[in-house]
Amino acid sequence: MFCFLLSTFYFLFSFISYAETVRLDRIEMKRDRGYDYLDVYTTGWSEAKGLLLENKLYIDFPGAVVGQPEFLKRKSKRIADIAFEQKDKTTARLVITLKKSVDYDIVNVFGRDKTVIEIGDRLDGGFTRQFAWETKIAGKKGAPLKPVKLAPVVARADLPLRGKTIILDPGHGGDDPGAAGCGSLPEKELTLLTARACAERLREAGAAVILTRDEDRRSNLRDVMSFANGTNADIFISIHYNSTENGRIAGSETYYHNPVSRRFAEAMHEAVVRGVGEKDRGLHRVPFYTVKNARMPSVLLEPAYLSNEEEYERASSASFREKLAGSILKGVKEYFGSRTH
Ligand SMILES: [Zn+2]
Repeated sequence: MFCFLLSTFYFLFSFISYAETVRLDRIEMKRDRGYDYLDVYTTGWSEAKGLLLENKLYIDFPGAVVGQPEFLKRKSKRIADIAFEQKDKTTARLVITLKKSVDYDIVNVFGRDKTVIEIGDRLDGGFTRQFAWETKIAGKKGAPLKPVKLAPVVARADLPLRGKTIILDPGHGGDDPGAAGCGSLPEKELTLLTARACAERLREAGAAVILTRDEDRRSNLRDVMSFANGTNADIFISIHYNSTENGRIAGSETYYHNPVSRRFAEAMHEAVVRGVGEKDRGLHRVPFYTVKNARMPSVLLEPAYLSNEEEYERASSASFREKLAGSILKGVKEYFGSRTH
């Protein structure tokens, strides 16, 4: 009898907790005004978050299980496939495989347990500018390299980055200001300020940090990379800020090139997008000089567009740099913490 009661309670309890768990209920693909839309209905409130990694767009629903949602599919010139999976015990995930480069937005409609994902063609970003800059600057004689090596703040055995050496490469400098942006601070100054803030956080976590420059100075990119490759550093992070002719474009982008960098780049992009809270403009594989020539896992960060007025205002503040430095630290820790080899 007691056993029966217990199992009844257990049944009731599991029924109640199941009933309280948010499930994906229905997913509808739609098309309107040149955009693709995904309307995702859930059985309760879950604030969806996106992450764009090359040709995959991941939409996570925290506190939700996948269940068996009804799926109203339709043809799309941008979406090749949509799959559902349980990312972990408490997160349901949509995996959208893309046919082309896109921009996306997510609107969580509070009170209606509905999330709208808008997917449109990617507005052109800074790839071409960055390449043009590299071509111009790569062959140009620069000032001799003057890197600065900074020891960990304290050498405690329990610090997460103890024993690691990290190269931070603040983009531009000297006669090369980088992007002018919408205000008085050129890219070369913001990259240096960011690298310094970031170095502090990494050193506090036990890492040794090498800055490829710690003053207003431009060295040849070939010199930067041959130096970096001679250091035995564990990872390499190039810091830039983006810009383009279209002042409406805003958001964080991350680049990598060599396959060995992919997992590091994913961790960094996720940490930056979540940490600084700008629009997610995706992780991309592009053969920029630094990430192509680094012989260690490497990324090039473009956390914000200086050509967008509002984003410039935010990105040029000390509080943004602190958030960004914290995000970079988080991404680096995540990478080393979850590394299996
Ligand atoms: Zn740059």
